[in-house]
Amino acid sequence: FFNNITERLQRDMERIQELSVTDELTGAYNYRHFYRSLGAEISRVHRYKYPLSLVMLDIDYFKRYNDTYGHLVGDLILKEIAQFLRKNCRDVDILARYGGEEFIFILPHTSEPQSLIFGERIRRQMEEHRFASEGIPQECKVTISVGVAGFKEGDTIEQLINKAAHALYKAKEGGRNKVCSFISERL
Ligand code: GH3
Ligand code: MG
Ligand code: MG
Repeated sequence: FFNNITERLQRDMERIQELSVTDELTGAYNYRHFYRSLGAEISRVHRYKYPLSLVMLDIDYFKRYNDTYGHLVGDLILKEIAQFLRKNCRDVDILARYGGEEFIFILPHTSEPQSLIFGERIRRQMEEHRFASEGIPQECKVTISVGVAGFKEGDTIEQLINKAAHALYKAKEGGRNKVCSFISERL
């Protein structure tokens, strides 16, 4: 009897733990988990000196999809995009929903030039992606703008995030459906 209760409690605790780090709509990690993980990753980088990058992306003109198909279809699109992103990265990469229609990857052991290659790959694959979820119209196509930034010794969490946000801003400004890196933008 007590074994059963203990097992159930254990399962419930695990479920609560999982819910507390997950974005409900997309199943990606939530912002809080992203922020904590980034802190932990940066500590590891200080100790073990390996490269680390952030890849921030925002769906282009997402408001139009809601306006055209309705908010519920917009939700389905966000959900499928999260699945698509998850499928196209490594197990050790951390994918989180950063905001409404924004996602962010923490890429451990990845330099800024390498993350630029990664960003370019997902940008292209997103452009080619055909949505398969029930409820999403067949003709639906999505592009993303991507900003990447590598961790530099001395960067705080905020500084690193701001670098990625700045690169993303440049990609938007440059016409969207583009990838920019923080370093190359400063050259
Ligand atoms: P840009 O290319 O500049 O990013 O254009 P945009 O339309 O994507 O940008 P904007 O910030 O103007 O609009 C973001 C839109 O994303 C508006 C908002 O309703 C939608 N959005 C944010 N979160 C959700 C969500 O959870 N579900 C749905 N369906 N839409 C969302
Ligand atoms: Mg957008
Ligand atoms: Mg946005």
